[in-house]
Amino acid sequence: MIELAEALALVEAAAAPLPPRRVPLLEACGRRLAVPVVSDVDSPPWDRAMMDGFAVRSADCGGAEAVDLDVTIDLAAGDVTSLAVGPGSCARIMTGAPVPRGADAVVPVEAAVDGTAGARAGGRVRLRDERFRAGQHIARRGAAFVRGQEVLAAGATLGSAEIGLASEAGATHVIVPPRVRVALLSTGSELVPPDATPAFGQTRNSNGPMLAAAVHLLAAEPIPLGVVADRPEPLRAAVAQGLAADVLVLSGGVSAGDLDLVPAVLERCGVERVFHKVRLKPGKPVWFGVLRRDGAQPTLVFGLPGNPASSLVCFELLARPAIAILAGAPREAWHLPRRRARLAAPAKAAVDRPVYLPCRLADSGSGLAATPLPWTGSSDLLGLAGATGLIALPADGRRHEAGDEVEVVLRS
Ligand code: AMP
Ligand code: MG
Repeated sequence: MIELAEALALVEAAAAPLPPRRVPLLEACGRRLAVPVVSDVDSPPWDRAMMDGFAVRSADCGGAEAVDLDVTIDLAAGDVTSLAVGPGSCARIMTGAPVPRGADAVVPVEAAVDGTAGARAGGRVRLRDERFRAGQHIARRGAAFVRGQEVLAAGATLGSAEIGLASEAGATHVIVPPRVRVALLSTGSELVPPDATPAFGQTRNSNGPMLAAAVHLLAAEPIPLGVVADRPEPLRAAVAQGLAADVLVLSGGVSAGDLDLVPAVLERCGVERVFHKVRLKPGKPVWFGVLRRDGAQPTLVFGLPGNPASSLVCFELLARPAIAILAGAPREAWHLPRRRARLAAPAKAAVDRPVYLPCRLADSGSGLAATPLPWTGSSDLLGLAGATGLIALPADGRRHEAGDEVEVVLRS
């Protein structure tokens, strides 16, 4: 049995980023750029009117008295003109149209007086006795960014604004690490699918969907392989299928029971064991290994304990960093964040292993307060479902009192 820190170091050493590839922009949503996006246009691409009104020469509008200008051009968004605005004249212009040569300010339509606001080319508009600043209501060409500029750096996560920006910059495809393919296999002869009503002795497969969700939340691709019974041959066949993925996550069958066949079957399939059992509660029996093949990416294999809460805690603490590393995430994004908090109620540590207890975190005004949630242990998902964090207590066997400072792992 090894310590969690040692287990993590072994996982980190075994995992390496997958080679990035070029994908259609929207497919990269939620992922991190491997290569920067460089714009092929200026933004704005030309001097753009930001109001509906009149494009004027600011020098014509002194401000002391109202001015009358000849409207010589009509410009809606999408219209362009080669005509220039000359002295004493102006263009009627709509938001989004290019400001014509000669004009250096846009005057909003509200500044037109005496019923002249509707004036079009051939008519006259009277503008209020107001100063109109050069450059007003014009977004200048290249004010936001210019052609050839890096607008998204390598490592940037592509959220909605970033997808919009990449589109504006002309990037229809981007280079990102591939979605990490994570095969999920639930082992146990007692397991039935969630749509079945479990008979006496049967248990619904909650780990399969739960781990698929956890994988999905990491922007990786879950490959659900369903349930396999505790029998060597079907288990071997299912494992062989799962080993085609980047990561294979099994649940169940890794403890010391007669039918805990997973470690032996994995080793028979060529998966090299890196560790089995971590000083951790819940989650002690967790198994980790690597399948290495010539000329191919290795497959990382996690055998998680079957009890659902143990499964999830082990996934979050150990499998998550592996998936993050394969996905090219920077070190600070490998792990769930940890915070210091004060206990709002007592919590009991174990003697033999560090324990992780579901809690709800709140801002108490003077820092974070962690309230332990009612929880019956490794098979209890109800306590975990409402939790926003896990209190990590050292293996000191102590009752930690309300007000004591503890470490909390934030849930995703
Ligand atoms: P095991 O790790 O196989 O000894 O399983 C420990 C406990 O977790 C047993 O009570 C199993 O029935 C339960 N269990 C195993 N796999 C699952 C699963 N996929 N969904 C829900 N419970 C499970
Ligand atoms: Mg089992």
